[in-house]
Amino acid sequence: DRLISPQSKIEDLEESVNLRPKYLEDYIGQDRVKETLSIFIEATKLRNEALDHVLLYGPPGLGKTTLANIIANELNAQIKITSGPAIERAGDLAAILTNLQPHDVLFIDEIHRLNKIVEEVLYPAMEDFALDIIIGKGPSARSIRIDLPPFTLIGATTRAGLLTSPLRDRFGVVNRLEFYSNEELAKVITRSAQILNVPIDNNGALELAKRSRGTPRISNRLLRRVRDYAEVKGQGFIDEKIAQSALDLLEVDSLGLDNIDRIMLETIIIKFNGGPVGLDTLAATINEESDTVEDVYEPYLMQIGFLKRTSRGRVCTPLAYKHLGIKYTG
Ligand code: ADP
Repeated sequence: DRLISPQSKIEDLEESVNLRPKYLEDYIGQDRVKETLSIFIEATKLRNEALDHVLLYGPPGLGKTTLANIIANELNAQIKITSGPAIERAGDLAAILTNLQPHDVLFIDEIHRLNKIVEEVLYPAMEDFALDIIIGKGPSARSIRIDLPPFTLIGATTRAGLLTSPLRDRFGVVNRLEFYSNEELAKVITRSAQILNVPIDNNGALELAKRSRGTPRISNRLLRRVRDYAEVKGQGFIDEKIAQSALDLLEVDSLGLDNIDRIMLETIIIKFNGGPVGLDTLAATINEESDTVEDVYEPYLMQIGFLKRTSRGRVCTPLAYKHLGIKYTG
């Protein structure tokens, strides 16, 4: 249960106020994605059509769900939210689809986890706004087609490569979300602090940003934790010093790494001589699922240049040695 996990936790939802921005203009960063989407949204509204299906991919916590809600708001459309694992049978999906109103948005999180049978229902739904239903069994079985209202599917996944190609090909708009810069995260933090009524200065926000692993969800979580610390240990005000001592106490280091990151990097360096080490071996050594290591932990370590994926396995870079204070031997 890591403080710096980019995945959603109960504590992120406990707050009574919602920190999610509701319109594109309040959505910080991801400028290229915002620009593309705003053009598509404008054009769609002019033509009074449903927006083309949108695929959003990138590591957890970067704002895919937020963006899906924003797209629906900008379109003045309703949004239905579900996830790949939640749709177990073809009938579940058929029920969702037949209940949509024209131009509604259907958001499917973790869309790569749809099972094959359910996924096949989605193909004609996305392509022709139609549902093919088989009636009866055996030789007398026949297929009938039901028309669906035009709708927009927004799918979210951590890696586009996890999708089958027929599914991927049915998205007209494909956008990758990137890690946020420290300046962008400082804006996220300042905005959230205003909403939560937490006094913070620029350097305090920047210090939290630097330790947020490029991820707004982590920024918001660190803000709440540091707020508690500031109330107990300080005057409630978050400046650079309070932010530093709070996060040091929480064992989140100057780059946002925690003990598990350090154990993982040290394992590669000490047990495997800096690598290469295979993903499965590495995951087993630190007691984690391979998928979690690959989708959740590694992307940020690669982003900051500490880890490389090679064909023979994971390798630590000299930067990682330096950060951990271990002499690089090459
Ligand atoms: P994902 O679906 O990619 O896991 P979310 O959309 O749930 O991520 O975002 C996590 C949290 O981060 C949200 O609750 C929201 O408050 C915040 N957030 C994400 N992106 C932004 C952004 N661009 N600007 C401001 N806050 C953001």
